[in-house]
Amino acid sequence: MSTCVLCPRECGVDREAGELGFCGAPDALKIARCAPHMWEEPVISGTKGSGAVFFSGCSLRCVFCQNRDISHGSTGREVGEDELCEMLLRLAESGVHNLNFVTPTHYSDKISAILQKIKPQLKIPVVWNCGGYEKPETLAMLDGLVDIYLPDFKYADPALAEKYSAAPDYPQVASAAVSQMFGQVGPVVIGEDGLMKKGVIVRHLVLPGCRKDSISVLDRLAVLLPPKDIFLSLMSQYTPEFASDCEFANLHRRVTNFEYESVLRHADELGFVGFCQDRNSATEKYTPDFGNFVAP
Ligand code: SF4
Repeated sequence: MSTCVLCPRECGVDREAGELGFCGAPDALKIARCAPHMWEEPVISGTKGSGAVFFSGCSLRCVFCQNRDISHGSTGREVGEDELCEMLLRLAESGVHNLNFVTPTHYSDKISAILQKIKPQLKIPVVWNCGGYEKPETLAMLDGLVDIYLPDFKYADPALAEKYSAAPDYPQVASAAVSQMFGQVGPVVIGEDGLMKKGVIVRHLVLPGCRKDSISVLDRLAVLLPPKDIFLSLMSQYTPEFASDCEFANLHRRVTNFEYESVLRHADELGFVGFCQDRNSATEKYTPDFGNFVAP
């Protein structure tokens, strides 16, 4: 790849020559953490954890990002493709319930090549844990390699997507992306062990002052996908500490009970099933510490 068009930004920079695009990611794979992770939905984390690989950089870089150490910063270290293959196989052998690629979009070509090599050896599902801002061509590279899609659906309003993620096309891109994901993996499949083997979990983080957009996201999603055939994960753990330096005053506070519960009620009315969060988890401690690189 001489010019990068992996995500809808289509920056066209030459990452092999050292140029950086919007995501800030070098051409070499750069990861912040590769370890069992207990903070995903229960059907993903189970009792032994999800084998999560957190990639450095991000093609969305939301102003309120709850993982900003890795998405906005340079935390992490570069690894070769063969080295990552070995790390993934060791992680899988350690007993985790799945391999979980977190914020992987800007490395999707390399990850697709890695999965083609290691997928036949894996006895656990592969999870694609992304921001929902994916091109159809990128998702096509993952067809047959990914078992569980775990995308965000962040905004229904292009103006909000522009303000917070500099991506006014986000609602349109994410709508097409979740439909394509569902077309690839189909309805949720839960194994006898109670863990997810296949399907789509759509995440939505309720933002302070954006309750109406959250409701529009759910309305849109209910038209795109059968609510009972996917899981919806409605997150309340927005922590304003990560957005303290941004210009939008509404993002400087937590989500109220009224805001979260009204969105939750609407999800129920639309027939969604899935996960909601204990409001006590609304603390920055909920997110893992990326300060020290961890690998198996
Ligand atoms: S992956 Fe990064 S460099 Fe490539 S198009 Fe997207 S933001 Fe730009």
